[in-house]
Amino acid sequence: MIDFYCLSCHKGIRQSGSIRQLFYVDDVLCSSCRSSLFDHKHNFRLDEIMIEGLYIYSGKIRELLIQYKEYNDEALFPLFLYPQVKYLRNKYQGYSLVLMCNSRESMLKRGFNHLENMVDILRMEVIDVLYKSKDISQKHLDFKEREKIGRYIRLKNKELLKGKKILLIDDVITTGSSIKAAYQLLKPHCLDLKVLCICYSSSFISNRKLKLIKLLGNR
Ligand SMILES: [Zn+2]
Repeated sequence: MIDFYCLSCHKGIRQSGSIRQLFYVDDVLCSSCRSSLFDHKHNFRLDEIMIEGLYIYSGKIRELLIQYKEYNDEALFPLFLYPQVKYLRNKYQGYSLVLMCNSRESMLKRGFNHLENMVDILRMEVIDVLYKSKDISQKHLDFKEREKIGRYIRLKNKELLKGKKILLIDDVITTGSSIKAAYQLLKPHCLDLKVLCICYSSSFISNRKLKLIKLLGNR
């Protein structure tokens, strides 16, 4: 029986039966695609900021994120947080989300707000307070230029943050420049501030651990 089709490989999700499949019957990816993503929950520090990351930005998850963001494959939005919904809703109960701001130009080109769509399945309140004072997309910047991008992040409607517990979310953390800037802007105005990134650069994980994860698969 085929219930629906994997968002990545388009095979019927219940086509081939394996033990693993039983755990993922409600997923939007087939078990083979799901297990090829480097999902590895990892807490790391960026200066004084503790960040929780969900996937190592490498291999299949990177391809899918690029397909989603750069090739405007809007239908992929649920796959990134799908298996994490329960976990995240429990862990961050009582928190409201603040999303890292996009460049307006890439959003208009894309035709959708990629991060807003990704977190939609969490059904948590989203507060719109961050924006970029200069419309730069990070896509074509080298590492050094990316490090400076934080200086263009600004705060609006800060009164919306009063008394709120905030979970700041970004899709990918590479240099961490945007996150650091956003964190400093938000911190004085909210009750509590935590940071989550969907994908994090492999530079935030030790080489030994990375090798082990790649060797053993992601679990
Ligand atoms: Zn698949």
